[in-house]
Amino acid sequence: MKVLIADDSLIMRRLLQSTLESWGYEVQMANDGAEAWAILQSPGAPQIAILDWIMPVHTGLDICRLVRGQEEGAYTYLLLLTSKNQREDIVEGLGAGADDYVVKPFDKHELEVRLRAGRRIVELQNALLESQEALRVQALRDVLTGCWNRRAILDILKRELCRARREDRHLGVLLCDLDHFKQVNDRWGHAAGDAVLRVAAERMATAIRPYDALGRYGGEEFLIVMPGCDESGARALANRLGQALREEPVLFEDTEIPVTASFGACTAPPTLQIPPDELLRFADEGLYEAKRTGRDRTVYHAIEQVSLNTESASG
Ligand code: GH3
Ligand code: MG
Ligand code: MG
Repeated sequence: MKVLIADDSLIMRRLLQSTLESWGYEVQMANDGAEAWAILQSPGAPQIAILDWIMPVHTGLDICRLVRGQEEGAYTYLLLLTSKNQREDIVEGLGAGADDYVVKPFDKHELEVRLRAGRRIVELQNALLESQEALRVQALRDVLTGCWNRRAILDILKRELCRARREDRHLGVLLCDLDHFKQVNDRWGHAAGDAVLRVAAERMATAIRPYDALGRYGGEEFLIVMPGCDESGARALANRLGQALREEPVLFEDTEIPVTASFGACTAPPTLQIPPDELLRFADEGLYEAKRTGRDRTVYHAIEQVSLNTESASG
């Protein structure tokens, strides 16, 4: 674990450095408050800091207040190490946000166990943040396929639509619906249907570009959001996904289950203001057409100014 030592005395820094390194800590040093604060704000900063009270630019107490003023991110455990040894000093130091207070000259054994206590707190806090993050991700994932769930992919669509406008780029949208999927369930059972959904999502996730997003939009329907994709890009990606699904049957137990899907594609040109549900409606019209004309294909629905200004002709 990394520890920041901030002290304006070179002798004290050297002494602390060799002591802490002998206990297995990785040490970073600052010789004044400004340097200490810069290190604590940098990415991958130490999460334990040993701070002298009196230092140039920012005192150890200033650092405590600055760190505690930050609301986000990992916890930083702050230990004041100072020759100020009056009861009021200790109260003031802890009041400024320090977690612990050790008086110089320090007792090595005491500092060692106090650091260990700090380390325990940092580790617990990190584990808590990790599990919070895991829960947050879990809430956005579809349980069966692991891709984004409906709510998450719709949020992504909204966000990417705003970004595309801001950056003056196209945004491609694909709606994918597995063909005759009900027959899979009817013929081989629901577990086989689930396996097909999982494999279909996995194949599509592999075939999209790193900055595309794939979400489960409904039962056997997927939504793919493709930043920077114009018509030819959207068509090309849909073809690649169709190919990835059809090229091999899904193996479930000893059964080979053929899979194809139909795609409805459209793109939001950067010059038009299209709400996300309109975009989805156009993609859905393409999908409907793909189903109607024989399945296992892509129909691109072009968006023209006129289709935005009138009510949908097809209802
Ligand atoms: P089409 O080619 O016109 O799309 O026909 P289809 O059979 O795929 O479409 P339909 O909408 O008639 O049937 C979809 C089926 O998908 C019905 C539903 O039971 C099934 N389904 C939806 N969600 C799941 C799921 O999570 N697991 C399984 N196994 N089946 C599901
Ligand atoms: Mg369907
Ligand atoms: Mg279907």
